[in-house]
Amino acid sequence: METLCGKGGGWRRVASLNMTDPNEKCPTQFRTYSQDGVRACGRPVTNSGSCVSITFPSKDIQYSQVCGKVIGYQFKFTDGSYRHQTGSSINSPYIDGISLTYGGPRKHIWTFISGATGSGIYNRCPCGTPKSHSVQESWSAPSFVGSQYYCEAGFEGSPQLPYDSKIYTSDPLWDGKGCGSSETNCCQRTLIPWFYRSFTHSTTDYIEMRICCDEGTSDRVAIEPGVPCRTCSYCKGGRYNLCPDMQFCATPPVNGSLANYYVHAADFCYKLPDHVSFDEGALLEPLSVGVHACQRAGIGLGSKVLVCGAGPIGLVCLLTAKACGASDIVITDLDAGRLDFAKKLGATSTIQVKTRDTRLLAKQVEEALGCKPDQTIECSGAQSSISAAIYATRSGGTLVLVGLGAPEVQIPIVDASVREVDIRGIFRYCNCYPTALEMVASGKVDVKPLITHSYTLEQTLDAFQRAKTGEGGAIKVMIRCGTE
Ligand code: NAD
Repeated sequence: METLCGKGGGWRRVASLNMTDPNEKCPTQFRTYSQDGVRACGRPVTNSGSCVSITFPSKDIQYSQVCGKVIGYQFKFTDGSYRHQTGSSINSPYIDGISLTYGGPRKHIWTFISGATGSGIYNRCPCGTPKSHSVQESWSAPSFVGSQYYCEAGFEGSPQLPYDSKIYTSDPLWDGKGCGSSETNCCQRTLIPWFYRSFTHSTTDYIEMRICCDEGTSDRVAIEPGVPCRTCSYCKGGRYNLCPDMQFCATPPVNGSLANYYVHAADFCYKLPDHVSFDEGALLEPLSVGVHACQRAGIGLGSKVLVCGAGPIGLVCLLTAKACGASDIVITDLDAGRLDFAKKLGATSTIQVKTRDTRLLAKQVEEALGCKPDQTIECSGAQSSISAAIYATRSGGTLVLVGLGAPEVQIPIVDASVREVDIRGIFRYCNCYPTALEMVASGKVDVKPLITHSYTLEQTLDAFQRAKTGEGGAIKVMIRCGTE
């Protein structure tokens, strides 16, 4: 057996949970957290402080020494031993981190504490420096822990705090590596990453590992930005997007949600599975427009579809139409770069609009598709594009107007009328978020390529400028409101 803990050989292994092995699963009572290719076991969602526990039988081995290694990751805002009273019971969630005990009543073996930040005054490790005077006392670990602990943070920010609901994967905890300026003392331990305890007696007690925190865990959610009244006939009839009292973020007089913290109606929050990122969660908004448009258009298996305009909305309609089973999708735009982008996302063919003759353009669509489209989704709002969309759509087909251009436009309405081309509008979406989330979570639709540029909250003006000009091939411009 390998030399463990720098203490020579002769050890017997009683437990191992190696989450770097792709076949290893977290014990059922734990929740699996995964991010950036890292998988880790943690507490399930709870409203308050708690521990989740697993016991490892000693296999009747008589032991008087324990050694081992635990590698963890900071998740969101762990605060070490801060606020945990020094007199805390060993049975309580007395630290944010891992408690290793043996037997019942529990006897302490080792504590692995997850600090708040590796740099700055909010380290919150008992071994950390510098400490702010006001909280110095409450950084101490309970007396039963003594010096039998390791403490480290995975978040290095200063003066920010780790508010993001994520695993800080770049700096694993309790390995003595990647230590920030405030945790140098914590990382200068002789055996780290191994811990070693020797008792004055021997025992065959089981060993228990608990993951604890003094606060509840939170859900990661995507928010549907429009909250309707829920009582009018439209809401009750299931078409809440038409509610006259809709409170929609960033549609005056309602402010947007560009803030670190934002309060939103719980029934318009959608829990994200662990493998769906916040970026993908944010893109459920435009994707829901695509879902609503494709549903209103009646796109299904084998549909031949025309999408006019290859902006972000045209592209989400393209992705959704594909996911609905459309067999051929042709997309138009004035901009060759956007058409290239659409092609990469799976458009069957593209047409760069160069003519003002809308009948001719309709003819080009028919040639590209081999027939007239069953459904057309107009996503530019341009008068000429709407006209071409009418001429292009097959008799008895459907044209969905998504683009919002001039309030009054001249279009060949008689052509639509005599050929029974149904013209339908859409206004945002309703009941589409669950479908959009399913499409993303199942991998049916990949929205990540749509994000071409990212900005911090402080760079919001630049982000809007980029989105407005489309400079540098901008499609979706993401503003990350987290603290990093
Ligand atoms: P965008 O401006 O980024 O994209 C529009 C695209 O249409 C551009 O790439 C542009 O080059 C192209 N275009 C312009 N004239 C054209 C023409 N004659 N033929 C073909 N393509 C042409 O905007 P977006 O974010 O993709 O949104 C598209 C439209 O959808 C906007 O009008 C927006 O207001 C509207 N919208 C409507 C709803 C709704 O609920 N109905 C929701 C979201 C967005």
